[in-house]
Amino acid sequence: QSSQDADSSIRLTDTDAALARFSAVQKGYLQDPYIKPFVPRSHLQPPRPPLINIGTFVRATAIDDLVFQWLQTSTNHGTRCQIVSLGAGSDTRFWRIATGAHKDALAAYVEMDFPEITTKKGMAIRKSKELSAVLGDPADVAVAHGGTGLSSPKYHLLPADLRLPPKETLGKVLASGSSPILSPTLPTLLLFECVLVYMSPAESSAVLQWFRDYFSPDGSGVLGSIVYEMFRLQDSFGRVMVQNLKARQVSLPGAAPYPDIASLPGRYLNLGFTSAHALTLKEIRKSYISPAELERISQLELMDEIEELDLVLDHYAITWGLFVPQSASFGAEWG
Ligand code: SAM
Repeated sequence: QSSQDADSSIRLTDTDAALARFSAVQKGYLQDPYIKPFVPRSHLQPPRPPLINIGTFVRATAIDDLVFQWLQTSTNHGTRCQIVSLGAGSDTRFWRIATGAHKDALAAYVEMDFPEITTKKGMAIRKSKELSAVLGDPADVAVAHGGTGLSSPKYHLLPADLRLPPKETLGKVLASGSSPILSPTLPTLLLFECVLVYMSPAESSAVLQWFRDYFSPDGSGVLGSIVYEMFRLQDSFGRVMVQNLKARQVSLPGAAPYPDIASLPGRYLNLGFTSAHALTLKEIRKSYISPAELERISQLELMDEIEELDLVLDHYAITWGLFVPQSASFGAEWG
């Protein structure tokens, strides 16, 4: 298998993620008026099974909640904030935030992915009236990076292979305009939704370290990060997950250091982050999703594979970490 084939298998996981989200929206688990333009008609498939829809619901609800809290914390501290989504794929979060209650808290929203994915996303955005209207005045929206990127007053779509040395990739694309896209002094949240697992642990650490350095050169920057990922792939069920993906030519080098929940915060703590926490989707479903929401989704579809659901949800986790310089009080209430 050539590395090109391996990369195209990794890129295909974006279609899976978009179809899973679309399915959860169709079945009433989630609301998202912006996903449809990202799901080409030729890719449409029957909705996913209930177990997958519930997993998508738990993951999306938990990450939405953490992001919402980040925006709220920024507002409470009288500052705007920035969000950077790495391996963003067809994610619609920018559009949901930019049309939601916290839109004024957002100073910049950056998405990065392989150029093949950002080119496709940029085209889908320009083709859709609903999506482009949210970017602002058309005169302020420009195709960038030879058609592989898009820039607008707040939203920036940038091509980058996250495995390459960050100084060469992140550093260059983020500095490519007339002024740097990200201010190093605004609180900034990184999102890694199902992406670091496809990279080596050293490559992911280099990305996190690069951002930590970018935001703390003078000790004023606050950095938060959310990682959603499979883990515990060393146990028997985990090995089945690995085999299933291997059959599709996808390997998961990023899961190696994380055999259990206790190991996950190390991703941040080893890089000097101030605090870090991890919860499995199983724990989140049991203890953090409101009973009213659990009751509502239990009415949507017949679901009798509860044991299998717990087993699957126990192999996915959300890990969030915060780097706050000593001089700042931001974020103690986050998470
Ligand atoms: N974050 C989106 C979501 O949750 O809906 C997409 C998740 S999808 C499973 C993984 C995404 O990560 C794909 O869009 C893929 O192209 C991207 N990705 C994986 N490895 C990458 C790399 N080395 N550089 C840039 N993007 C990468």
